[in-house]
Amino acid sequence: MIERLCIIGVGLIGGSLARALRAAGFCHEIVGAGRSAEHLQKAVELGVIDRYETDPALAVAGADMVFVAVPLGAMQSVFSAIKGRLAAGAVLTDAGSAKGSVLETVHQVFGEVPGFFVPGHPIAGTEQSGVEASFAGLYKNRRVILTPVESTDAQAAGRVRAMWEAAGAEVVEMDPVHHDAVLAATSHLPHLLAFTLVDSLVRLADQQELFEYAAGGFRDFTRIASSDPVMWRDICLANHDAIELLIEHFISDLESVNQAVQARDGDRLLEIFTNAKRARDGFIEK
Ligand code: NAP
Repeated sequence: MIERLCIIGVGLIGGSLARALRAAGFCHEIVGAGRSAEHLQKAVELGVIDRYETDPALAVAGADMVFVAVPLGAMQSVFSAIKGRLAAGAVLTDAGSAKGSVLETVHQVFGEVPGFFVPGHPIAGTEQSGVEASFAGLYKNRRVILTPVESTDAQAAGRVRAMWEAAGAEVVEMDPVHHDAVLAATSHLPHLLAFTLVDSLVRLADQQELFEYAAGGFRDFTRIASSDPVMWRDICLANHDAIELLIEHFISDLESVNQAVQARDGDRLLEIFTNAKRARDGFIEK
């Protein structure tokens, strides 16, 4: 059980954790923090949090668990604000989509990665943002990756694991560098491609006509281009090394498809498409 949970960033991710833990009866009190009193008041009205503070340093007072779910670019200011203000024995964790950059920021701010900090990343989300989009079932049967480092206190990691399990998630552990490489491929590159495709087509074509004739395929492929641009800008900057490598690899493969189209090489196209279909069908079946 958590006595007082402090959530800094009561949006889709923070709000959904609050709802899930409430539904599970896993915490007594939830205190929210963020920049906008209006957003936080909405979270109170929706029953997501009990009360709020707009100053994170005040919000963490007396909390035994602190969850930071702000965009990656805001992590540094949040960690700086709460440094030295956490209650004795409190555990600090986060939801950042890239782990190397969060660990670097924590190290910069605290002068080390403290034992009470447990880096985490829920592999769940939607293209919506804000507390209105949050829901209790977001983490049900979804994975949460914890990326503890040598200095991470095992008991603190155990408490974060128990919290996510209470929210319905399956918790796994991974090395942070490996996490960033895997997520660059499975999440960061696909988002970057979806944003770039829509931006490219919109600038190329008559917008009205484009969306009028767009069918299911376009909708499926581009759904994630409705995600929050600030969040995705921050993720691309934070995980730039892993993303750069994949972009280069992808450009080379796209060039190879281009050559096959130019050469009317149906066999090569069929080979690529068949390989992709087999891989995706297998993934969906699993
Ligand atoms: P979101 O819905 O936009 O929520 C972010 C929250 O952070 C908002 O409530 C915002 O409230 C607050 N905030 C923004 N800047 C702040 C600052 N400088 N100081 C304090 N609060 C601030 O975003 P989200 O989708 O929940 O994402 C939150 C984190 O989870 C990000 O780090 C993201 O990488 C990670 N994540 C997202 C997903 C996903 O699919 N969405 C999945 C896994 C992990 P105010 O505007 O009122 O300040």
